[in-house]
Amino acid sequence: MHPNMKKVLISEEQIVQRCSELGKQISDDYRNNAQPPLLVALLKGSVPFLAELIKHIELEIQFDFMAVSSYEGTESIGDIKINKDLDCSVKGVDILLVEDIVDTGKTLQTVKAMLKNKGAASVRVVTLLDKPERRTVEIEADYVGFAVPNEFVVGFGLDFNQKYRNLPYVGVLKEECYQTTA
Ligand code: 5GP
Ligand code: MG
Repeated sequence: MHPNMKKVLISEEQIVQRCSELGKQISDDYRNNAQPPLLVALLKGSVPFLAELIKHIELEIQFDFMAVSSYEGTESIGDIKINKDLDCSVKGVDILLVEDIVDTGKTLQTVKAMLKNKGAASVRVVTLLDKPERRTVEIEADYVGFAVPNEFVVGFGLDFNQKYRNLPYVGVLKEECYQTTA
């Protein structure tokens, strides 16, 4: 375990196992769809999750990336800015949005509305983590890896000041590590 970690909440083995279950469920749900879904991953946090999940989807999917910013330090703020938009058109496309964590739900609500405005045929959401206690807007992911308690988590894509994204598990840092910005 990383020396700055207080505890591991979800191990790498649990994540891989859950991704295999989610991949199977997604494959089953879209198998008879007119077209396979376009996975739209939100940079940067969802990259490790996307990479694991797609190994378990048995459909000819494609994926693309969007970067939105809504987050400073350890508290979510409301307004969302697009830092990188999709490369392809989403008109008539069935989209599966890939998120690292749904917290207040504001990011998801905004991005979902944006994609629908651009003419997406459908928008579903798969998230590695869900913090239901923190929700301030009414929105739920269609596929959830794990529900987590109301604690700031890092690892498997999730950062604190851009660090810890490469940890292969999800956990909580020691209190003193949240105080420094170095
Ligand atoms: P929301 O718009 O749902 O409040 O925020 C979603 C975004 O906030 C996530 O995509 C993630 O970037 C960030 N976030 C929310 N909770 C956590 C957390 O516990 N740890 C980390 N590292 N990021 C979080
Ligand atoms: Mg995110």
